[in-house]
Amino acid sequence: MIRTRFAPSPTGKLHIGGARTALFNYLFSKYNNGKFLLRVEDTDRKRSSIENVEIILNSLEWLKLHPSEKEIYQSTQTLKHIDVAYELLKNDFAYKCYLSNEELNDIRTKAREKGEVIKSPYRDESINKLKQDFVIRLKMPLKGQTIIQDKVQGAVTVNNSILDDMVLLRRNNTPTYMLASVVDDYNMEITHIIRGDDHLNNAFRQIQIIKFMNWPLPNYAHIPLIHGQDGSKLSKRHGADNVLDYKNFGFEPEVINNYLLRLGYSINDDNIYDLINNSFGFKLEKINKSPSKFDIKKLSNMNSIFLRNQPLSNLIEIIKIKYNPCANTLKNIEFLLPELIQRYTFLSEIKEDLNWLSSDFSSDLSKLNQENLNLVFEVLNILKSSNWNLKSINENVNEYLNRNNLKMRDLGPVLRLILTGKKNSPDIFKVIYILGRNECIKRITIDR
Ligand code: GLU
Repeated sequence: MIRTRFAPSPTGKLHIGGARTALFNYLFSKYNNGKFLLRVEDTDRKRSSIENVEIILNSLEWLKLHPSEKEIYQSTQTLKHIDVAYELLKNDFAYKCYLSNEELNDIRTKAREKGEVIKSPYRDESINKLKQDFVIRLKMPLKGQTIIQDKVQGAVTVNNSILDDMVLLRRNNTPTYMLASVVDDYNMEITHIIRGDDHLNNAFRQIQIIKFMNWPLPNYAHIPLIHGQDGSKLSKRHGADNVLDYKNFGFEPEVINNYLLRLGYSINDDNIYDLINNSFGFKLEKINKSPSKFDIKKLSNMNSIFLRNQPLSNLIEIIKIKYNPCANTLKNIEFLLPELIQRYTFLSEIKEDLNWLSSDFSSDLSKLNQENLNLVFEVLNILKSSNWNLKSINENVNEYLNRNNLKMRDLGPVLRLILTGKKNSPDIFKVIYILGRNECIKRITIDR
């Protein structure tokens, strides 16, 4: 069975790149009837925080990328990591290195000068010192090459001579990320490691542990990173990099998922897919090989297209969850939304747009001249005898205009301003109809 994992470090929030990695892992496992697992890599105690864990979980929840099982915290697996370090040591695939920090710095400087990687003298020293002050390092192969058949990057080769004897266990007996991540992937029976290509270099080093332990090799898919419009790696500098900022901004999660999918995956149509509920034929081979550019304009555009194409009932559901309006307001929103949604980028625009529905709304009549006010007053007065439906209101108003040799443009803007406080509003007859006779009259008489 295919098992993927998303392995964020809670040293920061969930950013757009991380969300895309999670999505790709989710889609690939889902399409293959596999499992999508979540591992919180919280071993860096100083830089990790509970708040960041919460934010990451909430972000994934908002995007509806639900893991198949409860998340695993890397910090709870430490004993297993340590066991593996000692097993490697026992089998002579690792060694205790007693170099002090000063000695190490010295070696590092010399190695750099020669363009070589650090090699500790303890690698070949068979005596086991009594000192307890050591780190455990992996004995990297000195010769030959390591080849990774990456599902995205193709075959990638490095000379083993450039791989340093990385630390597995620190002086204080804590495992490094390099060790912990490999051991966890093995214990979680991960079959496919899909992650950013900034981890490709790690893969060459991690794979050595897997080989020494004689564990099955996972499949790798290293995804090119997302860049900003200026071509550099996407970061805070380019605007919001926290997924929840997009939520607060008013983006719909389905749109974020669809946009992230397109950002780095070849699709030949413009559909916005229901990625969570329907099966999407996600194939690793279709992931693009070059970095993609994040474009907030395209994302916003996709949000408005998504809204326009949603059935009214779905939009109402979203509004209920987001704003929990009372039954009467909801009824009015339902009536006006098909027209309004055509010009929205974000559903949140509705709040400001429909503030005139509130009974507390009061129009500012101070800037209107008396002539205009009289006109509106008269029109609203003739409606006193109108049947209260859209058709009659429309007919009565038009009749009045014809009789007085006036056009809708003589009345519309000023009426709209008085009733809604806006230059732009839904169809003015709908506004009159919803507000009702008394409320309309109240809005024009209030300051007179
Ligand atoms: N914790 C790593 C990160 O957040 C990911 C490691 C991995 O996917 O193997 O970058």
